Amino acid sequence: MERMTTSIKPPLEQCPALILNADYRPLSYFPLSIWSWQDAVKAIFRGTVNIISEYERTVKSPHTEMKLPSVLALKEYVHVSRAPAFTRFNVFLRDEFSCQYCAQPYKARELTFDHVIPRSKGGRTNWENIVAACQTCNRDKGDAMPREVNMFPIHEPRQPSIFELQHHGRKFPPNFLHNSWNDFLYWDTELEDA
Ligand SMILES: [Zn+2]
Repeated sequence: MERMTTSIKPPLEQCPALILNADYRPLSYFPLSIWSWQDAVKAIFRGTVNIISEYERTVKSPHTEMKLPSVLALKEYVHVSRAPAFTRFNVFLRDEFSCQYCAQPYKARELTFDHVIPRSKGGRTNWENIVAACQTCNRDKGDAMPREVNMFPIHEPRQPSIFELQHHGRKFPPNFLHNSWNDFLYWDTELEDA
């Protein structure tokens, strides 16, 4: 019987590696820590990582041929900071990709940021004053204070904990994730909920 060997050969750029900490949790959840295949291969040769999972895709050098890693775990534990980064993705994730005024869920590209206290009135750009909003609500609210238009965020905006982001993140696995990466998120969920 002949094996089908030519089915999938994704470009190398589409073979990044997910990096897990030494305790097998992603080094950072969002954005996930992802290395290029070149960095991943270098780390393997340096001996600083364990290979957890591999792609079918291989790379060759004159002396060796190896499967590209899809998931690597660091051999030494790296301490991760507890405060999540104030990033676009993390704000949307905190707000569960829902408009904080009309409560409807949206895709990331359909959401905007709303300054609860408008910038023109001294509102800052930080966890306590930025919420996800759909374009309609964002336009309706305009430059007004919440009480002027009777539009208040569903949840009082504040800095989330890493745990909250992780919890929200499991509801929204980024669809670009390689299947084996999803497995890690899944397993981690089981451990957390136990
Ligand atoms: Zn809305």
